[in-house]
Amino acid sequence: MPHRAADGTSTGEHLHHAAPHSRPGCVEVVCGSMFSGKTEELIRRVKRARYARLPLVVFKPRVDDRYDAVKVVTHEGVGAEAVPVAKAKDILGLVGPNVVVVGIDEVQFFENDIIDVVEQLANRGVRVICAGLDQDYRGLPFGPMPGLMAVAEYVTKLHAVCARCGGEASRSQRLVADEGQLFVGGAAAYEARCRRCFVAYAVEPTSSG
Ligand code: ZN
Repeated sequence: MPHRAADGTSTGEHLHHAAPHSRPGCVEVVCGSMFSGKTEELIRRVKRARYARLPLVVFKPRVDDRYDAVKVVTHEGVGAEAVPVAKAKDILGLVGPNVVVVGIDEVQFFENDIIDVVEQLANRGVRVICAGLDQDYRGLPFGPMPGLMAVAEYVTKLHAVCARCGGEASRSQRLVADEGQLFVGGAAAYEARCRRCFVAYAVEPTSSG
């Protein structure tokens, strides 16, 4: 006799969804400078979960409206559906009991209470994948990122290519006048730089002119 769950689902389905409460949760942080491929990596992981038919939700802070309100969009324009939320706490009410994977893009824009939200979800058995800038334009730790990286089981630090020397870039150089810590000016206002080429607190013209 083939193994079948009482509700008639196949064993494959059974393996994935039988006991979501017993699933160990975890926190994954994908970080790096601008143009390091953080969102692409988040989308790649979310796609794999989707192929596995795991119930999932992707969120993004409402503050980031550079592109459109409902998609996580990379600079290459490759998108995934995302729910915009104004505050970190709003996420808890939007994650149903069946959800086993939660993605959060641009996580650096949330307040520090995002750390507690992410912890609560992981303690509930959810795999939480957070993507965000680890440093602001001054090269300083960005908002809740240090705390998130500390509580995470897995931290992936991605690098961009330095716009000046072609080396491994870890920092985001601001190219326009000060608009605060938020990177809402859009990709054109920044370029990736390595430690050597990065100029903290300065507004530098692009290398191309
Ligand atoms: Zn460089």
